[in-house]
Amino acid sequence: MNGLKVTALGRLSKQLKTLRAVPARPCSLAACSRKNARKAALHPLWQSPLTIPGGTRQSPINIQWRDSVYDPFLKPLKISYDPTTCLHIWNNGYSFLVEFDDSADRSTIVGGPLENQYRLKQFHFHWGAINDWGSEHTVDSKFYPAELHLVHWNAVEYPSFEEAVMEGNGLAVIGVFLKLGARHEGLQTLVDALPAVRHKDAVIEFDDFDPSCLIPSCPDYWTYAGSLTTPPLTESVTWIIKKKPIEVDENQLEAFRTLLFTSDGEEERRMVDNFRPLQPLMNRTVRSSFRPLLSP
Ligand SMILES: [Zn+2]
Repeated sequence: MNGLKVTALGRLSKQLKTLRAVPARPCSLAACSRKNARKAALHPLWQSPLTIPGGTRQSPINIQWRDSVYDPFLKPLKISYDPTTCLHIWNNGYSFLVEFDDSADRSTIVGGPLENQYRLKQFHFHWGAINDWGSEHTVDSKFYPAELHLVHWNAVEYPSFEEAVMEGNGLAVIGVFLKLGARHEGLQTLVDALPAVRHKDAVIEFDDFDPSCLIPSCPDYWTYAGSLTTPPLTESVTWIIKKKPIEVDENQLEAFRTLLFTSDGEEERRMVDNFRPLQPLMNRTVRSSFRPLLSP
C-alpha cells in the first residue's frame, strides 16, 4: 500500500518537474486573466495535486493539431446504438449520467482504433460556468464550453464494466466537443428532462433515446491511449476524440448550469466547472484518422 503511494508520489513529482520545465511564454493580459479565472474555478476534487495518482497515460490532454500523426490504417468508427437500451438519467453529484442496459451487445461501437466491439455503458458531459472553458480536452490549447463523453467497455475480453475499468484496453470513450451555435434538437430532449434531476442522487427514467444524434457525422477523429478523468483515474481508456464539434445554443448550456452538485436540503452549489485539468502528454502520440494537411 505504502509502496504504491510512494511510487505514485514519485511519478507525480516527475510530472510536476515536467510541467515546471515548460518555459513561461508571453501572453496577452486578457488570455492570462481568463486562465487565472479558469484555475480559480477548479473543482475541489482537483485542488490538491496529491489526490491525483501519477501515471504515464493520464487524461485529458491538449491535442496539438500539427503534432498529431496521420495513421492511414485507422478504420472508420462504426456506431450502432439501440434507443431501447437507454434506461435513466442520474445526477451523481459531479455530472449527469445517461445510463444504458449493457447486459448484451445491443448498443455498441466497433472499428476505428479498436480491436474489439465495445458496449455503451453511459454518457455524460463536462462544462464550464461560462463559455470560455468547460471541455476537458483542448485543441491547440483552445477550450470548448463543454464536452460529451460516451463511455463503452470491452465485453469481448472482460466479464463486467468494473473489471474492464482496471485494464489497459478495457474502455473506449468517444469525446465530442460542444460549441456555441444553433439549438441542438437531439440534445433538447435531454435538456427538457434535466429539471427532474437537479439535485445530487436524483434519478429519473429516460428511455428511447439514441445518443448517436449527439455525434457529428464527419468521420474524422483523433485517438490516443489515456485514462478516466474522474476517480479512479485508471489508465484503461482508448480515447476517440471527434474533430468536428456539435452546435448547441446558450439556453442549452445554461440548462446544464442549473443542475446542482448538492443534495436536496443542502446549501445549493451550482454544477459548473466539472472538468479535470490538463495532464502532460508524456511519451504518447496522438494519431489522426485524417490528413492534418487538409485542415484549415
Ligand atoms: Zn467524462
